[in-house]
Amino acid sequence: MRLLLLGGTSEARELAALLVEAGVDVTTSLAGRVARPRLPVGRVRIGGFGGVPGLRAALASYDAVVDATHPFALGMTANAAAACTDLPLLRLERPGWDPDPAWRYAATHEEAAERAAGLGERPFLTVGRQELARFVPRLGRRAVLARVVDVPEAALPGTWSLLTSRGPYTLDGELDLMGGHRADVLVTKDSGGAYTWPKMEAARTLGVPVVVVRRPPGPTGVPTVHDVAAAFAWATALG
Ligand code: NAP
Repeated sequence: MRLLLLGGTSEARELAALLVEAGVDVTTSLAGRVARPRLPVGRVRIGGFGGVPGLRAALASYDAVVDATHPFALGMTANAAAACTDLPLLRLERPGWDPDPAWRYAATHEEAAERAAGLGERPFLTVGRQELARFVPRLGRRAVLARVVDVPEAALPGTWSLLTSRGPYTLDGELDLMGGHRADVLVTKDSGGAYTWPKMEAARTLGVPVVVVRRPPGPTGVPTVHDVAAAFAWATALG
């Protein structure tokens, strides 16, 4: 059984480790966006497939696919659903954070920018490098602190500060960072998971309002599990 694991998440790395230990022939695929990615154990391939046709061609070398990409990696998830017509596909999607009544939800990044503009002058943006440009029209003149893994290609407004770092984060660290910036609104995607949760706790402690970009809907008709153990059980049951 040759398994293609679409990765880029901590869950994908955990699943790869379990599968390798169980003797499954697993190849993790990474997009290649991050300069120094955390590599999983087992075989790794890096770079896009070339859309649905490229992925379909690549699937000739595999017997099953687990899509463990990030909940906001819409393109890859859609491509996997479209390409896996002849072989089993499972979606592993970590649950979103349990909603806090104090959070404001936004359907899009633009709406999140609008909401943040109404809430504060010193936003802390933790939405990922690729989404930052969507905040510039509304927050271009605010004292934004933007935290990203790698520096974005596009220039950012002069009032913005960029912080490159990678989780997991600690509550103390997040309190220091948000306090130091005097952040008065936090913007995040509903990424879920523990790695980036401390900022939510820090915001609650500091009384900083939080704007959460809602998750896009998952792929329709694709069996979906929400934890690594269930994905491991699915993959090993395939034989
Ligand atoms: P995306 O918009 O869904 O994907 C755009 C294109 O990137 C895909 O069509 C595919 O190119 C390539 N790609 C994406 N994931 C890939 C993978 N695992 N293996 C090979 N190619 C992949 O993806 P994204 O939001 O830019 O995310 C890129 C990667 O970063 C994903 O693997 C995701 O798990 C990880 N990540 C994303 C976020 C986020 O907030 N979006 C956060 C943390 C980690 P082709 O069409 O050429 O195949």
